[in-house]
Amino acid sequence: MRHGFTLLACAAKRFHGGGEAYSNSSTMFRFLKQRRRQRLRAQPFPPAWRSIITGNLPIFRRLPPEDQAELLGHVQVFLAEKHFEGCSGLELTDEIRVTIAAQACLLLLHRATDYYPELTSILVYPSGYTSYEARHLDGNIWDEGGEPRLGQTARWLGSLVLAWDDAKRGAAHPSDGRNLVLHEFAHQLDYEDFKTDGAPALATRAEYLTWARVMSREFAALQSAGETGTSTVLDTYGATNPAEFFAVVTEAFFERPRALRGRHPELYAQLARFFRQDPSRYSAETTTTP
Ligand SMILES: [Zn+2]
Repeated sequence: MRHGFTLLACAAKRFHGGGEAYSNSSTMFRFLKQRRRQRLRAQPFPPAWRSIITGNLPIFRRLPPEDQAELLGHVQVFLAEKHFEGCSGLELTDEIRVTIAAQACLLLLHRATDYYPELTSILVYPSGYTSYEARHLDGNIWDEGGEPRLGQTARWLGSLVLAWDDAKRGAAHPSDGRNLVLHEFAHQLDYEDFKTDGAPALATRAEYLTWARVMSREFAALQSAGETGTSTVLDTYGATNPAEFFAVVTEAFFERPRALRGRHPELYAQLARFFRQDPSRYSAETTTTP
């Protein structure tokens, strides 16, 4: 027994040593990554890219100057790290890449971020596309039919798909409550704690508990509104499941913040705490009624 214990102790020591080596190399990796990102953020922003953002994202002009500068820095990192691919014959342009990146980076302002670490590639179709997926129906029955889509993403997939015409339209109308890019990238934020449960990575257990309490109640209310046909600030598609709920409330938070804050103050407070932003201060929204 003693011998076995010693072997185990040695094995544990070796493992621990390996852990330190791993820890040191991962600390070095993080340091180098952060330094590279700092350099990217500090690079002069290409004037042509800035023209694309000011032309395609009316919300950009409404942001405080310090937020504009932070956003442009994030766009530099995002475009350096993410791979874009055109689908169905779409030829990628700077307009496509920059317009998508700027919207995605709006979700990163004011927070420590690892730039959507689960995401490698963004696939862009010219417009809506058909997604072919085998879906389990019952027993041995599978449905392999196509489903029309504007965008999608999934954990472990490493990619996110967007219809370019809808992504551009979403940027051009910053207060209609709908934004495809914000929706799909909110899903990516949800994955950062390695779960698809509608809760992004929060700092403390107390924050998770409060989040769960508020979101559960709001999710149930949206389900009821969908069943009774009651008018709501939130798209009732959010009642599909908690993950879709988080994506839908993220769209509303950035696009209809005043209406959301007026109708759902606790929900708004939770999102404002997570995103460290108060979009009601810069929103293009003109009315507070749904
Ligand atoms: Zn979704």
